[in-house]
Amino acid sequence: MNIREICKDAERIGISGHIRPDGDCVGSCLGLYLYLKKLFPKKEIKVFLEKPADIFSCIRGFDEIEILGEEVPQVPPFDVYFALDGRRDRLGGAEALYEGAKVKVNIDHHVSNEGGCGDYNHVEPDASSTSELVYDLVEDKLLDADIATALYIGIAHDTGVFRYSCTSPKTLQAAAKLISFGIDFPRLIEETFFEKTYVQNQIMGRALLESMLIMDGRCIVSYIDRKTMDFYQVTSKDLEGIVSQIKLTKGTECAVFMYEISTLEYKVSLRSTEKVDVAKVAEMFGGGGHVRAAGCTMNGTFHDVINNLTVHIEEQLEGAGA
Ligand code: AMP
Ligand code: MN
Ligand code: MN
Repeated sequence: MNIREICKDAERIGISGHIRPDGDCVGSCLGLYLYLKKLFPKKEIKVFLEKPADIFSCIRGFDEIEILGEEVPQVPPFDVYFALDGRRDRLGGAEALYEGAKVKVNIDHHVSNEGGCGDYNHVEPDASSTSELVYDLVEDKLLDADIATALYIGIAHDTGVFRYSCTSPKTLQAAAKLISFGIDFPRLIEETFFEKTYVQNQIMGRALLESMLIMDGRCIVSYIDRKTMDFYQVTSKDLEGIVSQIKLTKGTECAVFMYEISTLEYKVSLRSTEKVDVAKVAEMFGGGGHVRAAGCTMNGTFHDVINNLTVHIEEQLEGAGA
């Protein structure tokens, strides 16, 4: 895929990522945005995203993001539209902008988005992150510290700071090149990945306290209901990282964390170490993701949801001879 070629005749270019934007989503969108602005200073380029967490304000261009709300933005059609880090149906309110664009481009690393959903697709399920894929596509001579900051944050977040198995030699080579621009990477990681507010830590404590081991300790589950979220005055952005923390429990193969998004409706996050393909489990319930990290939305009580999920998790664990 050649971004310069695809965009050369376009006057208006749009970029969006998935709903509830995470570090990779924000990093890849802003990295691509900064790159396109440098490549084509005269073109109109816009990024539309659901409101990202304020921690990402350290990325240049953050204040220029057009925040998506309930209503579809009333703007003329785009000549080229990029959907990053997800499928066409998870663009957080920008779906119509993507569908209405003359040329659609999809850059993603989710297995559940096989083949891609654009006229041009760069979908690599083995890549650590969409930010790594954007890094592959940008011309070296145009890279700078601002683009490097955006892409480094994206790669670091999706690899759990270079710990997850999706980290490859290529990922580390990209990271090495990106830090060569002199970016303050220890601070960026500390402030966007590890640091938590007091209430974020408190609610994580609640989730840990109330977590339960099931399937002889091979699976750990926990949840936060609406009432608790209201009590601590937190939103979904404050719950980022809880599933990875419970997953650290020794002996577990699989972790499930869920929080109530409306009455008896839960956003479910799944993580696994080695034996369970959680993308497959999430896909059974209309979600998706990666083999080791996936998500979906499910209805019912906490126990209904857990019962429905564990049938499929257990099936895979038994199949693996665990
Ligand atoms: P999360 O648990 O929300 O952090 O998501 C883990 C991974 O699965 C991320 O890469 C998400 O983009 C992806 N994911 C989460 N929910 C869905 C969904 N409903 N459909 C497709 N992919 C999802
Ligand atoms: Mn993502
Ligand atoms: Mn990603």
